[in-house]
Amino acid sequence: MSSETSKSVSAITADSDYDPNSMPVAKAREYIRAFLTPVTAVERLHLRAALGRVLAQQIRSSIDVPSHDNSAMDGYAVRFADLEANAESSLKVVGTSFAGKPFQDGVGPREAVRIMTGGVMPSGCDTVIMQERVRVADGRLQVPGGQQQGANVRYAGSDIKADQVVFEPGQVLRPAELGMIASLGIGEVPVYRRLRVAFFSTGDELVPVGGTLAAGQIYDSNRYTIFGMLTRLGADAIDMGLIRDDPAAIESALAQAAQAADVVITSGGVSVGEADFVKQLLAKLGDVLFWKIAMKPGRPLAYGKVGQAHFFGLPGNPVSAMVTFYQFVREALLVLMGVPHPRPLPTLKAICTSAIKKAPGRTEFQRGILEQGDDGHWTVRVTGDQSSGILSSMSQANCFIVLPDAEGNTPAGASVDVQLLEGLI
Ligand code: AMP
Ligand code: MG
Repeated sequence: MSSETSKSVSAITADSDYDPNSMPVAKAREYIRAFLTPVTAVERLHLRAALGRVLAQQIRSSIDVPSHDNSAMDGYAVRFADLEANAESSLKVVGTSFAGKPFQDGVGPREAVRIMTGGVMPSGCDTVIMQERVRVADGRLQVPGGQQQGANVRYAGSDIKADQVVFEPGQVLRPAELGMIASLGIGEVPVYRRLRVAFFSTGDELVPVGGTLAAGQIYDSNRYTIFGMLTRLGADAIDMGLIRDDPAAIESALAQAAQAADVVITSGGVSVGEADFVKQLLAKLGDVLFWKIAMKPGRPLAYGKVGQAHFFGLPGNPVSAMVTFYQFVREALLVLMGVPHPRPLPTLKAICTSAIKKAPGRTEFQRGILEQGDDGHWTVRVTGDQSSGILSSMSQANCFIVLPDAEGNTPAGASVDVQLLEGLI
């Protein structure tokens, strides 16, 4: 066991400004961050299979990319010294350099070579004239004055130089990174193993999909949103099912989940008024703290360790479960997956077209619809009913409108922070 994993989460309670009943969002993130130990096991994958995974070792290039000086345009490769500065020059076209089929001979004085985009620069030539700028007749090329030396040439190593470190460990492999690694000729990459995240729902009122609802019952939707968010993040989502509000059942589910996974996520059962045994059990099986976060929605959050597993107890309300996942769990899981400095959800400013009522003293994450008006400017409006049970608000939303702690009401027309819910590439 490393010293990191042996630290007790409950040691946090000794902090002078620790207040479990009014925990600022940023403070909760900071506390969680202090206990995250990333996975270390590495597997080698074919490049395509590594999409979305986290690179485990540095990638260094053994070649220049591109490997030769080549043309950025369809045109003519010339020797700049042959050209008149301010008058037309006449050159003899002596061959062609296609992409992948270079012109093999040397190029002498007052000679030029037809060249295609990506074609290797013939030896002796240093400049490419765009084909739109010249006239060609009877194998002779007329180049007007006023050309620039080195124009339209892409130099060897201009993207990546041989021996350059291209990626560091912790890099998430997106489509651009797969392409870059391929451009180095590397077909297999070391990545961290997938993070295993076990999750279950608790609540006697819940019925799994496929069952029939009796009076007062609702379907368990959190296991689907949580599955979706985990899968999108690239974790291995282990569904442990729906557990009754029964101490023995919860105890065995927690123990099993902590055995099976790096992280355990539950929903429901952590709010005030819930049967006390959930807290008692967590106290018995693990080292877990119960917080009321100064935020809306999503006030209750339990965080700690159960055995060796990291534990997140999310609120049961469907919107609260999603908001707390995005605000706390997402970043924590990325760190555990091996990303040392996860990028926060992209945040930008937009004009809010609706007035929003808010009390100071908590951060609000209102569900918003961000759209571009005919004038090209982006505006945002709230989705409607912002209760934490209205899951359709999450479906309609493409962003969170983030209203900071200190702020009160927001008038229509104010500029607000907007957190995008979709990745950009
Ligand atoms: P709790 O946090 O257990 O007090 O639950 C708060 C609210 O969320 C209650 O109305 C629950 O019925 C609801 N809820 C809890 N878990 C789920 C779930 N898995 N799917 C849908 N709603 C849930
Ligand atoms: Mg419950």
